[in-house]
Amino acid sequence: MLFKTHILLGMAFFLITKNYFSGGNQAIFFLLVLFASIFPDIDEPHSKVNQWSGPLGEIVTFLCEHRTLFHAVILHVAIYVVIGYFVSLYYAKAWLLGYVAHIIGDGITPMGVQLCYPFSDVRIRGPVRVGGIIEWILFAVLFVLVLRVLV
Ligand SMILES: [Zn+2]
Repeated sequence: MLFKTHILLGMAFFLITKNYFSGGNQAIFFLLVLFASIFPDIDEPHSKVNQWSGPLGEIVTFLCEHRTLFHAVILHVAIYVVIGYFVSLYYAKAWLLGYVAHIIGDGITPMGVQLCYPFSDVRIRGPVRVGGIIEWILFAVLFVLVLRVLV
């Protein structure tokens, strides 16, 4: 998925589920969902989040293939546990929500994602090409839906 589609998916997930979560500042929750919805692509050298990360992004792309560890459930459950333990479960849920939004977006593309990396090579895949016509239709639908809720 493209950056803009990941952002819209994160926004849509937040808007759909926001009333089910409580326990902290909703604006911070929203920003965490958005950040987690783009963070996994730090492992892709041309992604915005990688470019914004500077040396950290270079280290990640040197060490990890795209859509492996940084898209794997194990890393994001670990982040969930760390945020939940040191900050609060409320914000940990925001991270998981953004991650799920990202994985659904990537999981419908032909490249797919290795959710159980490094324990399994099995990929969840779909037919939607990154930047293809179906993604643009999905982007337009999400854009209209998010706009309708916000305005
Ligand atoms: Zn991704």
